[in-house]
Amino acid sequence: MTIDLRSDTVTKPTEEMRRAMALAEVGDDVYGEDITINELEAKGAALMGKEAGLFVASGTMGNLLAVLSACQRGDEIIMEDQMHMFWYEVAGIAALAGVQIRTLPGAGGAVSEEDLRSAIRSEDIHFPRTRMFCMENTHNRAGGTVISKDKMESLYKIAKAHGLWVHTDGARIFNAAVFLGVEPRELAACTDSITFCLSKGLAAPVGSLLTGPKDFILRARKYRKMLGGGMRQAGVLAAPGLIALETMRLRLAEDHRRARQLAQGLADLGAGVVMGTVQTNIIRFQVPMAAEEFVARLAERGVLANPTGPDSIRFVTHYQVSDEDVEAVLSVCRDIFREEAQGR
Ligand SMILES: *Cc1c(COP(=O)(O)O)cnc(C)c1O
Repeated sequence: MTIDLRSDTVTKPTEEMRRAMALAEVGDDVYGEDITINELEAKGAALMGKEAGLFVASGTMGNLLAVLSACQRGDEIIMEDQMHMFWYEVAGIAALAGVQIRTLPGAGGAVSEEDLRSAIRSEDIHFPRTRMFCMENTHNRAGGTVISKDKMESLYKIAKAHGLWVHTDGARIFNAAVFLGVEPRELAACTDSITFCLSKGLAAPVGSLLTGPKDFILRARKYRKMLGGGMRQAGVLAAPGLIALETMRLRLAEDHRRARQLAQGLADLGAGVVMGTVQTNIIRFQVPMAAEEFVARLAERGVLANPTGPDSIRFVTHYQVSDEDVEAVLSVCRDIFREEAQGR
């Protein structure tokens, strides 16, 4: 038995999702005729309080389409320096959109109002145009931490006062909403467009949604075609996404509870873990040996995890991690810590 804590992207579709895939009504989505995709896009947009939605292959594609649809070549985007869009999207924003990213340091994944204000460029023949401001909630590299609605709102207001487009990478926005006890649309009200993943904690096999105003989504739809993302009878992929939105959002609280249990257990073993940052389903912690070595010893015992630095590890809880798994993982960690103390 393997317990896979590498990411919530490893979740497999439920039986109900598999049945829905088999029975999905489909059509040619490039003609707008796949009613399952149309339903998913409408449902996703409604959840976010936006006019329209677009089903895309991945969160990466959704974020890139947002940039393509809001910016022109040579524009500049401001974002916090640990964001996924800066670290993990293969510089598509530079290579394919021709847009420059300007990063600012953050705290808990969010930039300060002061830093944002002073980074927005004035009109000058030498300067690029600051066109866009991006946020990420929950924040992956900060450890799944949540940005409050108040913080999003105050940054949104500054950006809008300067005429910027505000986009949020909400890959895990439902984790943030569950943690804060708010509706997703309350957070989405603090951004012009937002992407969210169906294929992470919600356990659908494929896809993300980009949502925003109608004209913006129309432009994104055309750019999606340009990138080769105009799929045909993809309702078979949208059907499990609908089930994900209908049935998997609120149970994320269970993943959060298990993450806290894991984190507390690790802290009790003497691992370096800052409990206050364990807000959702991600745990980052320090171990008393090389991270690669710790990960290898976990793997010998059937537990998969990713290193995040020379001595730091990340665990992610998700739909396929049970209470028994949490106990089993802590027991494995206890053994590894004991071996290390005895100088294996
Ligand atoms: C996973 C993730 C994405 C998108 O990932 P894809 O694998 O392209 O779907 C974007 N942003 C964040 C914060 C993520 O964690």
